Amino acid sequence: MSDPNPVETMEVQPEEIVDVFDLDHTLLDTERRWFRPALEWLAAYTKLQNSVVDERFAECNRTTFTFEKLFVALDIAQRYSDRIEVQLRGTLSIRANGCLYPRVVEMLEDRSSVARLVLVTAGDEAWQRWKFEQLTRLHPYFRVGDRHFVPLDGSKADRVALYRGASRVSFVDDSPRWLDEVRGRFPMVRLVRPVWASDGVVEDHSGDGKHWDVACSAPEINAILSRP
Ligand SMILES: [Mg+2]
Repeated sequence: MSDPNPVETMEVQPEEIVDVFDLDHTLLDTERRWFRPALEWLAAYTKLQNSVVDERFAECNRTTFTFEKLFVALDIAQRYSDRIEVQLRGTLSIRANGCLYPRVVEMLEDRSSVARLVLVTAGDEAWQRWKFEQLTRLHPYFRVGDRHFVPLDGSKADRVALYRGASRVSFVDDSPRWLDEVRGRFPMVRLVRPVWASDGVVEDHSGDGKHWDVACSAPEINAILSRP
């Protein structure tokens, strides 16, 4: 699928420092914290085991997540799905800011005094936009034009390319897929992979410490980004 919203140009000053951040599992503890109560509610509602709901949710997440897909996976009758979605979104909205990883806002506050902060997140565009809208604590740090929403089968490197006129570009993302994509296109970009203890998922760590730096906390991300 081609990018539905290609951005052709971006005004970047040569003295600017640009920090590019991913959203899910980089700033937001998406599945394990933010979504947890919603999944428990869905398990109670569908009378399915928690583990079954978790599994089907994970399956939906492997491709582009939408509520529609999740409700189909959980055999929720279509006539109830709109009402359930409104209820779940309400709960998720209230919880959103509280599910940012510890000290992420302080890190962004710090970085914003020296760098231009850019968000590049992938997934269903409407869903990612909605998610970001709820995260009001992040809004002051990312100018509207520096918020990029790309399809899961699209390219983050294309968005990073818009800022290559800056004096330094860093790319912070938990996913080796995107780190590898940016590394392949822009060897000069500083790469940082946050690995949060609470994620606890078995993932590919082969590039850690070799192709990119690893940070286990917001102050560690900050420290790597602050290196000259
Ligand atoms: Mg991510």
